[in-house]
Amino acid sequence: MSFIDLVDLDLTEVAEIRIDPITSHRSLFSKKAFHKKEEIITFLAKTVQSTPTYLTVQISDHVHIELFPECLECINHSCDPNCFFDTTRMELVAIKEIAKGEEFNFFYPSAEWDMDQSFKCHCGTDQCIGVIKGAKYLSENAIRQYRFTDFIQKKLG
Ligand SMILES: [Zn+2]
Repeated sequence: MSFIDLVDLDLTEVAEIRIDPITSHRSLFSKKAFHKKEEIITFLAKTVQSTPTYLTVQISDHVHIELFPECLECINHSCDPNCFFDTTRMELVAIKEIAKGEEFNFFYPSAEWDMDQSFKCHCGTDQCIGVIKGAKYLSENAIRQYRFTDFIQKKLG
């Protein structure tokens, strides 16, 4: 039995990618409801790199992984996220109730210290923090509002 057999990596019952016909922008939508704290899926590292790209998730100072299943890279940023990449347990977990048909979003700085590409957020939520650059640049007020990976939490002190 391989390591792959040990984890549930089949996303077909869990999520679907939707592609905007005009912008080709990809998003990942839930195909079932999840409770707060429920595991959505476990994930693996497809590749391991020493520097970040716009596709990677940070594991430690010089370890950045590309996700497998690959469709997880379609999960967009929101300043009011509904899921969280737990990079210690290698699980994507719901951090609020998620309805069937809802888009998955996570807070990029929750798993990124200093991002390769910063961007202006257009999530439109009440708690939008504006420019997204990584946990290193967050205000103390923002830090109090979010859950971070164990690695980022340690960096924040
Ligand atoms: Zn925002």
